[in-house]
Amino acid sequence: MAKKRAVEAGTFASLTNYFHHRGHRETEGNAAKLVSSEDMKAQKTRVRFAPSPTGLLHVGNARTALYNWLFARHTGGDFLLRIEDTDLDRSEARHETQLMEDLRWLGLEWDEGPGVEGPHAPYRQSERLAIYREYTEQLLQESKAYRCFCTNEELEAERAKAVAEHRAQAYSGKCRSIDAERSAERAALGEPFAVRLRIPDHPLRFHDMVRGEVEFASDVVSDPILVRSGSGKTGGVPVYNYVVTVDDALMEITHVIRGDDHLSNTPKQVAIYQAFGWKTPEFAHLSMILGSDRERLSKRHGATSIASFREMGILPEALVNYLALLGWGAEGGTRETFSQEELTREFKLERVTASPAVFDWAKLHWLNRHYLKQAEPARLTELAWAYFEKAGWLPASDGSSAEIEAWFEMVIVLFLPALDQLDQLPEKAKFIFKFDAEAARADEENATLLATESAQKVLEAFAERVGSAASGSVTPEQFKAWMNEIKAETGAKGKELFHPVRIALTGAHSGPEFDKLIPVIETGSGLDLPVHVLSLRERVEQFLRA
Ligand code: GLU
Repeated sequence: MAKKRAVEAGTFASLTNYFHHRGHRETEGNAAKLVSSEDMKAQKTRVRFAPSPTGLLHVGNARTALYNWLFARHTGGDFLLRIEDTDLDRSEARHETQLMEDLRWLGLEWDEGPGVEGPHAPYRQSERLAIYREYTEQLLQESKAYRCFCTNEELEAERAKAVAEHRAQAYSGKCRSIDAERSAERAALGEPFAVRLRIPDHPLRFHDMVRGEVEFASDVVSDPILVRSGSGKTGGVPVYNYVVTVDDALMEITHVIRGDDHLSNTPKQVAIYQAFGWKTPEFAHLSMILGSDRERLSKRHGATSIASFREMGILPEALVNYLALLGWGAEGGTRETFSQEELTREFKLERVTASPAVFDWAKLHWLNRHYLKQAEPARLTELAWAYFEKAGWLPASDGSSAEIEAWFEMVIVLFLPALDQLDQLPEKAKFIFKFDAEAARADEENATLLATESAQKVLEAFAERVGSAASGSVTPEQFKAWMNEIKAETGAKGKELFHPVRIALTGAHSGPEFDKLIPVIETGSGLDLPVHVLSLRERVEQFLRA
């Protein structure tokens, strides 16, 4: 352990040197330098997605991950995954596992990170605490940061006073002037303290690729806490703003692409880069995603986790395409369907819009329909199987037969044109597996359609024919021939002719084409399924009895 730490410490020293020697050292007072296009060519781009494993991956963060991934792939750079799990109370391993599964499902493989590792491991912040402590010591030694011994009560009183006086709630700077020796003594005696950064008294500026030049006055930022209150040499738990900066610098991140909820954190991070003399990366803060009511997208707007989209039967290529369009558009055009390769080719951060994007189910469904139609039926069979297995209509897929699989593919192809998402399939296909003659009769609209004399005649004529055929043997050609005969016999045509038959076979007067439906019903009736699929003949018999 001791040896490992020594090696790591060596690595940090050389990394710090790396930043200094490349001429990136910034003196206080310097604004964040822009990366020129020359630099960009010389330096490989490196971006990261840095989720906190405190819950499911949702639309907003997934879009952030995608834009990072696309930017890295477009520029030939690296895409890192870093797990920000310093909030131990809220972080859970199962969320991390799910998160990685969701990213892989979206096709966003990472070049460095958990499971892949890489030159900057570990990629979990909870495993990097010793690193942060070392940098805290450095900042304290250089007096860039100081120990703050203010108690919660004191800080609370300060805040209350500021509110009462209608002032901004900034830290008073009370502990700024504690003499370094005295500060170390108090810490050595076990007095708890937080560590605060000494914010310089010049404005904090940075360049944002979406928003342009951004500037924050230093008094708005006030001396931010880097490490929460605790005792020992370097206090308690380091905070997000601090560890994110240390890690982005050590991991040589060139572009920080994230949600604009972090915009107000950025000046604090810029101040930390400056305190260390590190080069500030480029930033790109992505606009919010709103619900249809123009409020920030949240649980109120329904399921928006990536896991729930997958469960619904949204295809990953549809979701990736959709997420890409939430705030970005390709150059010169109104094109909306892009494969992941096409997105990689076309994606430019410069074309990301600063105005909020509105989440639009109709468009996601439109794209999903597009990709469902393009998908191999065998793939859809595999994806949709679980819904039917759960309903008790299909056997477990590993205990199935090739015959059943081929038939289920026919079921999918039959209903595909009517689907927005795959989980709608059982409801659409319900009448195949669970034909309910009584419910079909009880339906008011059906009852009206069947009440005419012509409908009765048609039904009788159809029953006669189907009753004389062997159960499960009717072909679409046979069906067509019967319908022509019935038309001639009864004089009924169009809806008058087809509605009664359709109701008797499916329970509804509209539905999929008979040409495709009849083979599904007849073949299904001969299969060994957990529920018996009624043949045409059995359906009509039940219907007439109901
Ligand atoms: N852990 C932060 C989040 O999930 C990361 C923000 C950032 O990218 O800096 O919001």
